[in-house]
Amino acid sequence: MTSLIKKITAPNGGVFTGGGTNTYLIGKEDITVVDPGPSIQSHLDEIVKAGNNNIKRIIVTHTHKDHSPGAKPLAKILNVPVMGSFAKFDMFQDETFDPDKILQDKDIIKTSEYTIEVIHTPGHASNHLCFLIQEEKCLLTGDHIMNGSTVVIAPPDGNMTEYLDSLKKLDNFDIKLLAPGHGDYLENPKVVTDWIFNHRLSREQKVLNSIKELKTARIEDLLAHVYDDVDPGLHPIALWSLEAHLIRLEEHQYVKKLEDGLWKAES
Ligand SMILES: [Zn+2]
Repeated sequence: MTSLIKKITAPNGGVFTGGGTNTYLIGKEDITVVDPGPSIQSHLDEIVKAGNNNIKRIIVTHTHKDHSPGAKPLAKILNVPVMGSFAKFDMFQDETFDPDKILQDKDIIKTSEYTIEVIHTPGHASNHLCFLIQEEKCLLTGDHIMNGSTVVIAPPDGNMTEYLDSLKKLDNFDIKLLAPGHGDYLENPKVVTDWIFNHRLSREQKVLNSIKELKTARIEDLLAHVYDDVDPGLHPIALWSLEAHLIRLEEHQYVKKLEDGLWKAES
């Protein structure tokens, strides 16, 4: 898609990972590897081969097990540093993650070929980072934005309010192309982020309407109501996002959780 960015997809396709985790190699003579994916030898071999002895560092968008466990073995093979950030809660986290440098919002990685700007985008995970390749106006989105499915927001490390804020945060940057952690490149970033934002808010409205209609409801009762347009096979996953919506609605004092696990609308 761009001459500076190469994509290699790991062979770990599945319900959460679509066709597999995308690993990106940025640059030619001074390469940054983004998200080495799970520790799968054939995939690591492919990264090493594509890197042509020019890989200088490994950075990760977040530390879910489909994104970062390849970092440690790859760093050992290549003798290069790993960079990323730690999550606040250890659910679904890669326990092997051991960065040489902690990345923060606004950090810059500059080489003679390109400039990477680090953008902290919590929501899917508290430590989620997006990486903007400034010269290409291309944003590596990790799991902040996926192509082909809605991102899972699993509390407490996932947070819906932070997620929506992190989508809006991208409006502040000059972005022409999205390079997601799963699926193909996406053009028209603003159209994509606006769609996701509105889709989430309309789902949230549906949550609120359902609670009002049912008077009081358990999360399991709400699930079938709110996700009646979604394949029931995906409902166990949707349950996380539903919880994230409920927490956000409670933050805004639209709903209240009663002691017995029932949710009711605030009058
Ligand atoms: Zn993830």
